[in-house]
Amino acid sequence: MTAPVFKRVLIIADIEGSSDCWSHRASSFMTRDWVPACIGMSRDVDAVARALFSAGAKEVTVKDFHRTGFNLIPGLIDPRAGIVPGYCRGPVPGIGNPNKAEALFLIGMHAASGSHGFLSHTFTSRIQRLTVNGHLMPEVAFFSGSVAGYGIRPVFFSGCPVACGQAHHLIPGIRTFSIDKSGPPERFEAEPWRNRLGVAAAAALTNHCTRPYLPKGPFRAVVLMRDGAETARRLAARWGFERSGARIIFNADDFAQLYMAMIRLCYLSPASERVLPLGLFLYHLMGRIGLAWVRRRALQQGLL
Ligand SMILES: [Zn+2]
Repeated sequence: MTAPVFKRVLIIADIEGSSDCWSHRASSFMTRDWVPACIGMSRDVDAVARALFSAGAKEVTVKDFHRTGFNLIPGLIDPRAGIVPGYCRGPVPGIGNPNKAEALFLIGMHAASGSHGFLSHTFTSRIQRLTVNGHLMPEVAFFSGSVAGYGIRPVFFSGCPVACGQAHHLIPGIRTFSIDKSGPPERFEAEPWRNRLGVAAAAALTNHCTRPYLPKGPFRAVVLMRDGAETARRLAARWGFERSGARIIFNADDFAQLYMAMIRLCYLSPASERVLPLGLFLYHLMGRIGLAWVRRRALQQGLL
């Protein structure tokens, strides 16, 4: 008897571990190299979405989780997939309502700040190293933990080999598919890799080995800031956190508190949090402008 397939899937898509992002520049907003990176990321998402539908998925929702959350070009992606660009306030930070999804697929991901993967970072490259209760904490932990309350299981992960190793370590049973960026980009064959990514993702649709991932508190987070002590002092003072040199230290009773503290530290100030709906509106506007620019450039260059 074959295992039942997950019918409702949530995909979180990032760009660093996608097939045409080969440098920090390519992951950066409105740079020349960002244009092909957005196209590659869109084609990867399309390959995964199409493979999931072929394997029996009924609903596939895609959350773009890179920078402004506007990197995916809808015209390149299977129209049956629901693309949700930009970030929502809640109920799940960034995601909004996970819409009865059963399984979480994370693609195009990267390793944690403080590890040696391709473009490793956790939330922002301004963090040199983040440890929680003494261990590096990659984004797969935060994103999976954020939807655990909805019973959603993380079942598939794609990123560089280091990122895949971290996902495995945290979530035993998760299926991974890696992208090797140790060679030159011109030797990398995106199309066959993408097809294999789709096959691996489809196979994970019957992966019932994992459980919703919710690490138990209390937590003690140590955040080493790349820019040094002055930046750490400013940020720690802003949120009332402890500090030692370039390290910001705080405690959280549970996972939701830990995640929210990291979001505040990385993206907000008390003033901007008070006007968050307006901030998100403007951030979305910026994202839309960037994506329109990508399309125009891509069309001019004959890439679309
Ligand atoms: Zn990213």
